[in-house]
Amino acid sequence: MRRPIFAANWKMQKTRAEAAEFVEKLLPLIDGTDAVDVAIAPPFTALDRVAKALRGSRVALAAQNVNPEEQGAFTGEVAPGMLADLGCAYAIVGHSERRALYGESDGLVASKARALLERDIRPIVCVGENLSEREAGNTLDVVGRQLAGSLAEVPHERAAEVVVAYEPVWAIGTGETATPETAQEVHGFVRRQLVDRFGPGGEQMRIQYGGSVKPDNVDALMAQPDIDGALVGGASLQPDTFSRIVCFQPPGGAS
Ligand code: PEP
Repeated sequence: MRRPIFAANWKMQKTRAEAAEFVEKLLPLIDGTDAVDVAIAPPFTALDRVAKALRGSRVALAAQNVNPEEQGAFTGEVAPGMLADLGCAYAIVGHSERRALYGESDGLVASKARALLERDIRPIVCVGENLSEREAGNTLDVVGRQLAGSLAEVPHERAAEVVVAYEPVWAIGTGETATPETAQEVHGFVRRQLVDRFGPGGEQMRIQYGGSVKPDNVDALMAQPDIDGALVGGASLQPDTFSRIVCFQPPGGAS
């Protein structure tokens, strides 16, 4: 049984005070949802403040990016050891915005994932096709290539620590979500790739869906066999919408 994981990706939003206020409101709303993992990825500037606000809770701290080098002349960058020092348990790598806007390659994503694991931080590795790739019928080719490249440096014995986020680019921030069946088709493909590559460890790896996840579509998405949680952008900025997503209703209604 894979434990669902929900992560809030705040992107370049929220000051330290806003971040602390969010956490204060969120924690009571998700009290009692012990069956899922929850992580919050604020901007770097609010990591320390959110770490303090989360202390004593079971919500994990996550970063939105990392540089694979341990230290040195890399102006503006943040090292894995610095994230470990702040208490980050997860870090997002290869988000489509970083791939598209900052030219991140699968090779760079792979080295980030490896560097995070060396610091015992779990990578959330994002993959996903854009609209023209989907329309050309290339979704599985694109996702397969991104997966193979981005996970190339993950040792077999560490595979279960890695989270994959399937995020179709055309669904991110657009309000357009993949239907549960369309998402499952790709998640099933991702699962087979992970098992081929990592063996039994691939069965344990969690695959999040990301792309306009909201309170009104999370239940149907989570009913799919290979959807193990969500990476949430817009709907993670408000405690009430993010908490409703975390407290999704599994099929049959029992939570
Ligand atoms: C994201 O940025 O990872 C994301 C899924 O954003 P949104 O939920 O806003 O589509």
